[in-house]
Amino acid sequence: MSFFVPRTMNNFLSFLLLLIIKSFFTKCTYKIIKTFSKISAKCFNTTVYRLFIILLILFKYNNLYAGEANATKKIMNVGIILNTATFTTGSSEDFFVSDASSKKLKFTKGNVKISCSEKGVCLEKYILSPPLKIEPLNGIIFADSKPYRGHLIVKKTGNKISIINVLHIEDYLRGVLPREAGSDWDIEALKTQAIVSRTYSIANFNKHSNSDQGFDVCSTTHCQVYGGVEVEVDSCNKAILETQYEVLVYDGKLAQTVFHANCGGHTENPKYIWNWKYTPPYLKGLKCDYCHDSPHAKWESSIDEILIRKKLSDNNIEKIKNIKIKGKTSTGTAKELEILHSNGKFLINAYKFRLIIDAWQIKSHNFNSIKTDGNKFYFKGNGWGHKVGLCQWGAKNMAKKGKTYKQILNYYYPGTKVEKITYE
Ligand SMILES: [Zn+2]
Ligand SMILES: [Zn+2]
Repeated sequence: MSFFVPRTMNNFLSFLLLLIIKSFFTKCTYKIIKTFSKISAKCFNTTVYRLFIILLILFKYNNLYAGEANATKKIMNVGIILNTATFTTGSSEDFFVSDASSKKLKFTKGNVKISCSEKGVCLEKYILSPPLKIEPLNGIIFADSKPYRGHLIVKKTGNKISIINVLHIEDYLRGVLPREAGSDWDIEALKTQAIVSRTYSIANFNKHSNSDQGFDVCSTTHCQVYGGVEVEVDSCNKAILETQYEVLVYDGKLAQTVFHANCGGHTENPKYIWNWKYTPPYLKGLKCDYCHDSPHAKWESSIDEILIRKKLSDNNIEKIKNIKIKGKTSTGTAKELEILHSNGKFLINAYKFRLIIDAWQIKSHNFNSIKTDGNKFYFKGNGWGHKVGLCQWGAKNMAKKGKTYKQILNYYYPGTKVEKITYE
């Protein structure tokens, strides 16, 4: 059991606890207790007093654990344009550009070009000191003709600049959901995705925080695909609003809400995909009866032998004669592939093989067969993606059958529950 309280409340409990522990050693213990409760000091016989402190410690300790997961910053830093020499920014109203030396410039509507220069960052006739902050007057700012909410930060690394979109996490989700789910999906499926995406985003704050990058998440499939204002649609905005502040929690902590397009009939334990040392109970893999009639339930593709050899060129592989599936998980997914070539054998993790060769052509590592005619390899398989966590096509079909977003989440992440998060 866990209690979620705002950080200010948590701080108050810390203060109260400290005060009482200190007062233990002073003559004014009972006076302080009297101040906090209006009960007569006589009621605080030794047993009641000790019980009160034990309960307070338990309550406080519990919140130290859950409160950290629940109280989160509300501003997301999204890397939208990385390592470029130049880009354009602008607004339909006035906008302001300030730099590290507190220089602040005002521009009227229209575009300006920002480029990297030896001395800093060049904007028209000005040389500015990075990082730059670009703020719109009306709430929408453009970067290379694409509109974004919030404001932009321009960072310089070496002779390249990167553009970071800084905005409220609920606004960020408006640019994510239409890219990560179908905007025509049933509202319950969209609400499911809203919670999955919100939880994932908060759990992945600082994913790109190393010194070269300095932002939270990128805007590609590496984190979540984000398209800014131009991709926003009413259906997704509604799902975000109706689940505002809701996240998925397990045992007082944010759940790891990994998701994929189609599981092919069974979700997978992540230990076979990412070598996780610990698998949370809600991610151990389960049978999914809801995605078998979707477009990606079965797939096949062919890839030239030369291309496969080229992609694996770091491994001294010569003419590939055959590719064999070596070991399957209990759900039927390939664990490893053995590549037989004219210079020997090479063993590779099946999921890694898919990513190295072509993740769009080879939709999953849940292979039914791998055949060759000598020049090409023919792959057949089920599902699309890594198979861990929520199956999006399964969620879409569950919603169609009348399931609520909470039922869908509890199906794919058993034992978890939906809680409201507090933004600091
Ligand atoms: Zn990323
Ligand atoms: Zn499925």
